[in-house]
Amino acid sequence: MYTGHVGVALGAKGLRSSVPLWALIIASQLPDWADATLCIAGLRSSTPGMLSHSFPAIGVLTLLAGLAYLVATRDVTGAAFIGVLVISHAFADYLTGIKPTWSGGPMVGLQLYHHPVIDFALEGAVILAGWLLYRTSFPRERGNSREVLSILGVLLALQLAADIVFATVTGLRKC
Ligand SMILES: [Zn+2]
Repeated sequence: MYTGHVGVALGAKGLRSSVPLWALIIASQLPDWADATLCIAGLRSSTPGMLSHSFPAIGVLTLLAGLAYLVATRDVTGAAFIGVLVISHAFADYLTGIKPTWSGGPMVGLQLYHHPVIDFALEGAVILAGWLLYRTSFPRERGNSREVLSILGVLLALQLAADIVFATVTGLRKC
C-alpha cells in the first residue's frame, strides 16, 4: 500500500487525538522505512521484504515502536495505537503487494498494484475513511477549512500519481 498507510494513520489520529500525527504516520510506514534503510545499508535478504515485512520482522518492529512510544510518553493506549498501526501496515500490504510470511514460509498477497484502477479505488477508500475520522478531531469550522480539505486532495493526488507510475513503469527499484 502507498498513501493508504497515511489514511490509516489519519483515522487513528481521529480516534486518539493525543498521539502526535507524525508518530502515527511513522508507525504506519515503519516497515517501508525499515526496508529502505536496510536496502541503502546493503542488507538484502534473498527474499524481498523478509527483514521488514515478514511476521517476525513486523513483530520486532511493533515491539520496538510501541516500547519507544511508551518509554517516551508513558501512554499505554497511545503505544497500543502505535503497535496496531505497524501491524496494519503488513495487512494493508498483503492486499496491494506480495510479502513473505517467515523464513521458508509462503509469500502472500493479492498484488493489487498490478491492477492500478482497483488499487486506486481501495487506497482512495482507505484515505477517505481515515480522513473523515481525522476530520472529527477538529471543531466543525476547522474541519471544513481549506487546509484540512487539502490533505484529502493531496493524498488522493499522490495515490493517483503512484498508480499511474505502477501502470506505466516496469521494473521499479526501491534503492
Ligand atoms: Zn510496506
